[in-house]
Amino acid sequence: MPEVRNCRRCKKIFMFVTGPQLCDACKKLEEEEFERVRSFLKEFPGATIQEVARETEVPTQQIYKYLKEGRLEVAENSPIALQCENCGVRVKSGRFCINCSKKLANEMMNAGRSLKDSLDKEYRNEEDERRGLRYMHGIRKDEYK
Ligand SMILES: [Zn+2]
Ligand SMILES: [Zn+2]
Repeated sequence: MPEVRNCRRCKKIFMFVTGPQLCDACKKLEEEEFERVRSFLKEFPGATIQEVARETEVPTQQIYKYLKEGRLEVAENSPIALQCENCGVRVKSGRFCINCSKKLANEMMNAGRSLKDSLDKEYRNEEDERRGLRYMHGIRKDEYK
């Protein structure tokens, strides 16, 4: 069921179905930005994050986000430094180094049941939040009438 949401980027109201909370125009823009960053890094693997941001006109924050999400990888000798959130070692992509990823995966397996419980709880909170948002939209619509 599509529902009415505000675009995360331009705040316009659009019909949200699935995926990132972005309207079609912004979704396309973000795709283009990602493509610009990716091809720039391919051509200039030695560029600093400031140079990439300047040349692609994509904010550094956004570039770090790509890296943390694992969508983007920097070259071995790239000055763009990303650190493992657990031990601080240099990583090329993602949030953790290989050692910590393995360790965390093991810990998660051991946590087993309790993790599932907390995930269920998180999901329920999200549902509540969505219901609250819909309520707010309702009010706003009434005001425009
Ligand atoms: Zn938008
Ligand atoms: Zn680590």
